[in-house]
Amino acid sequence: MRVLIVQLFPSQKLSFSFLKKKETNFSCFINTQVELQRCPHKKTHLFSSLSPPLCLEFGAEGSEKKREQETTQKRKREMGVVVIFDFDRTIIENDSDNWVTTQLGASYLFDLLRPSLPWNSLMDRVMTELHSQGKSIDDIANSLKKIYLDPHIVSAIKSAHSLGCDLRVVSDANEFFIETVLKHYGILSCFTDIITNPSFVDKEGKLRILPFHISNMSPHGCALCPPNMCKGKIIENIMKSVNAEERKNFIYLGDGKGDYCPSLKLTNEDYVMPRDKYPLSNLISDNPDRIKAKVYRWSNGEELERTLSELINKLLNRDQANNNLQNLSGECKLEAIPASSEEGYSVAIPVPR
Ligand SMILES: [Mg+2]
Ligand SMILES: [Zn+2]
Repeated sequence: MRVLIVQLFPSQKLSFSFLKKKETNFSCFINTQVELQRCPHKKTHLFSSLSPPLCLEFGAEGSEKKREQETTQKRKREMGVVVIFDFDRTIIENDSDNWVTTQLGASYLFDLLRPSLPWNSLMDRVMTELHSQGKSIDDIANSLKKIYLDPHIVSAIKSAHSLGCDLRVVSDANEFFIETVLKHYGILSCFTDIITNPSFVDKEGKLRILPFHISNMSPHGCALCPPNMCKGKIIENIMKSVNAEERKNFIYLGDGKGDYCPSLKLTNEDYVMPRDKYPLSNLISDNPDRIKAKVYRWSNGEELERTLSELINKLLNRDQANNNLQNLSGECKLEAIPASSEEGYSVAIPVPR
């Protein structure tokens, strides 16, 4: 029997992910053989478990689960890392508009109308045409479910969420496409918000796609962005709302021209992750002085996962160091496992049964 004493900081899950790596059977034992106590300040958990392998439990049922959810929410607020994903060619490998259009046989119409309609209106028109050809909303959903999403990206999203990051999608696709894909891959609930062109199914069962900004009513006035959506304005609004209490760090991932404007809004405390050899990456290279954020490129899902994880860990370590300092003045002074270290900080204490 070993007892592991840890202090539950906002970024504590990182410590558990190290244990998971170290203990190969960790996930199999997560719900078994665990004793858990809390100190009165609810910041400290005392875990005891059999060894080997080491087992940890975060509370599974009833009030314990509720407390865990509260802790997660608190951790999210405290963590201060906001990760913003573009959708097309960033979360998913392809472009969802092109995918649906091709899969459902509307490429000819798409190509025909492309020169005369803005992209957003064009997609609405294509959906109307598909409906008139007898294609249902389920046909559209089924084609979306076939879109490839790299398992590394699924894993990167789940892991960032479990570490307490505030994840959002900002995309020029549309609500129906994005939600259908994210739900299909079981990651919709990882996101706090999806900011995109609104869509709805009308009385006839037709999918309608609307512009995010109604340009003739309130033009956004940004020369870099298409009339229906300025992602830069969206990022400014997110920054205003999440930075109200304290400055958060942003990590922005994207590939396209539309991701350049929001990248310019980031500060030198933020990070931009452009997909290498895609328009955003080229625009950044062509105008290196315009970007204040630190730039980390990626070319595939594996690189995205690794880079994002490294950046989050860097920010987590910084947050944890700050929290350690704050907690030195607290009354609970138990051993803590630092996120960055695998050795030397966990304590194994025999406990009589
Ligand atoms: Mg994109
Ligand atoms: Zn813009």
